[in-house]
Amino acid sequence: MKVLFAVSECVPFIKSGGLADVAGSLPKELKKLGTEVRVILPKYGTISEELLKTSSKIAEFTVNVGWRKQYCGIEEVTFEGVTFYLVDNEYYFKRNQLYGFFDDGERFAYFNRAVLESLSHLNYFPDVIHCHDWHTGMIPFLLRVEYQSRKGYEFIRTVFTIHNLQFQGIMPQGALGDLLGLEDKYFNSDQLEFYGHINFMKAAIVAADKISTVSPTYMKEIQTDYYGEKLNGLLERRASDLEGIVNGIDDEFYNPDSDSYLTKTYNPTTLKNKRINKLDIQRRFGLPEKDIPLMVMITRLTQQKGLDLVKCVFQEIMSEEIQFIVLGTGDPAFEDYFRTMEYHYPEQFKAYIGFDEGLAHQIYAAGDMFLMPSLFEPCGLGQMIAMRYGSIPIVRETGGLNDTVYSYDEYSGKGNGFTFTNFNAHDMLFTIRRAIKFYQQKRTWNSLVKNAMNIDHSWAQSAFKYNHLYAEIISRSESHVF
Ligand code: ADP
Repeated sequence: MKVLFAVSECVPFIKSGGLADVAGSLPKELKKLGTEVRVILPKYGTISEELLKTSSKIAEFTVNVGWRKQYCGIEEVTFEGVTFYLVDNEYYFKRNQLYGFFDDGERFAYFNRAVLESLSHLNYFPDVIHCHDWHTGMIPFLLRVEYQSRKGYEFIRTVFTIHNLQFQGIMPQGALGDLLGLEDKYFNSDQLEFYGHINFMKAAIVAADKISTVSPTYMKEIQTDYYGEKLNGLLERRASDLEGIVNGIDDEFYNPDSDSYLTKTYNPTTLKNKRINKLDIQRRFGLPEKDIPLMVMITRLTQQKGLDLVKCVFQEIMSEEIQFIVLGTGDPAFEDYFRTMEYHYPEQFKAYIGFDEGLAHQIYAAGDMFLMPSLFEPCGLGQMIAMRYGSIPIVRETGGLNDTVYSYDEYSGKGNGFTFTNFNAHDMLFTIRRAIKFYQQKRTWNSLVKNAMNIDHSWAQSAFKYNHLYAEIISRSESHVF
């Protein structure tokens, strides 16, 4: 099978969150199963020169954005055996960050068409285009209403993966003609119209042959009013084509036994070396080098991540014998809050506001506990990476957290973390206290750490499920009718 991943970010080129990890590691795993995956993404100005050293321009053409024609170059580069196509347009992508611009709708409308146009210029027609999140949401729709009648495009099927339903790419009605070059007839509630606007994510849910999301629990949740972000009705209608496949992590990149970012590497049989990483982080952050629990968070600083709960009981957390480090960037209100708390609790709390991959690995390795009390969590990679580094997750039972973290049961000895159900600050606080209690029982804690480190979070099983999903839609006699 030939599969093209269309995605807005991908490791090692560019990353703002878990989506990039998925797009970077799943293709390699699918390749092991005999599926040939190529990846297409925008060529952002912030991609390192080093990674582009061997890239070469293989096509140039123009892409229609409404009535305008915009330049498009396709550069090819191979990394770890996977072919990447970078869509080059400096006006749209040579900027200092990935998203958050007034013209994001235009930038990604362009990108969606560029992906589809590139196929004929590259003379490369995959069996499946696997699109990820709203930035690629118009691809399945445009393919069906416009490109499928062209030679080479007839049999292409589409999968759309929802990594986060909260971001949908909602644009004014005018974008339909002005940016996407589509006729008004598609502006109806069964297709592109969404409360008087158009919606990229909805377009994909309407048109893709299969829709997947990144955990079985999130798949169920998004069909409810509470988590469904006003698309739950549509998702329910497409339930027979909806699947939940939990993400894996790249177990070579995240491997405490060989991680070059760490002060000292370790594995479940050399746990004393994990302590060296903790001491080093305590020293670097100016925390007392004590044997008390070090709780960490590594996260985008957004409401989704349950930071309101943390704020609500911050003082109570600090009244425990605990140290706490936050590595994150995002909402300025949370950034300021954590900076202020650093000032109030200099002996216990430190915040590093920024994005730093190496430091993230060091903190995963240094941490005893990893806090992730999300309001919602499609899958979450942080908790899985944390477990791999022996940092015990404390999470709310939602989405992928519910599918990957099982609360420690002191009677059976089973479990790999600590969990709570309701989005409630005191429930979180009691769960943190429960974790602290077991931290003080060294034997119990060590076996918990070893259990967590030994769990297989690799991509193997999930890649197998994606492969199955591709095979199933390819074997269908026709594309999904809408
Ligand atoms: P999301 O995709 O919602 O941001 P995930 O838990 O799925 O959350 O993935 C987050 C990824 O981004 C993890 O690999 C995590 O280690 C990384 N990450 C988040 N914030 C930072 C940061 N400030 N510095 C470095 N890595 C970060």
